[in-house]
Amino acid sequence: MDLGLAEKTAVVTGGSSGIGLATVRAFLAEGANVAFCARDPDRLETARAALADEFGTTRVFARALSVLTPEDVGTFADETIARFGGCDALVTNAGQGRVSTYADTSDTEWRDELELKFFSQLHPIRAFEPHLRERGGAIVAVNSLLAYQPEPHMVCTSAARAGVQNLLKSLATELAPDIRVNSILLGLVDS
Ligand code: NDP
Repeated sequence: MDLGLAEKTAVVTGGSSGIGLATVRAFLAEGANVAFCARDPDRLETARAALADEFGTTRVFARALSVLTPEDVGTFADETIARFGGCDALVTNAGQGRVSTYADTSDTEWRDELELKFFSQLHPIRAFEPHLRERGGAIVAVNSLLAYQPEPHMVCTSAARAGVQNLLKSLATELAPDIRVNSILLGLVDS
């Protein structure tokens, strides 16, 4: 199937494993250039090297960083534009869930989870927004069914996911028509 992505540029956060890595691979298989990031430099380099072998070094760019550090995300955006000339799609996928109930979640854990869920969206979107705007690009935000159906054993992840869904609806309105924003509500994925 030709999705019309040849020679487009996609950015995937959390691209070194699981759903993010599968997304990077899918874009490359469609002929797109891909920039991706994650924190662990060794795992990132292993993924980058394997993808470069399969799809060619010129179409793959990887940078080790945390999406919670806005300066590093800004540099990643600058490097991506310098390398590929623009950005057509941003997949905000980086992160993980937290398993804990109301009774065993501390204030620090609440803050960490809220920070991760909100700023893993906000920092990349802020950094890539001007470039997506230039090309009439799209944001695909990875969210979870927990946004609408909370699980008590993942209390703060569920609450944060609901807030992120609300944020993404606002962004879908505010960034339209220049940038399309879609939120994907994942169920359980064996990653
Ligand atoms: P994985 O743990 O396999 O992949 C997560 C990726 O995100 C890794 O590349 C990880 O690399 C990266 N990452 C995590 N934190 C950061 C950070 N602060 N900055 C940059 N990169 C980061 O998880 P999945 O593929 O299963 O999940 C992908 C997304 O989908 C997550 O946001 C998850 O919450 C969400 N999701 C998953 C579901 C599932 O059932 N699998 C269900 C619903 C939502 P590193 O650790 O090196 O930074």
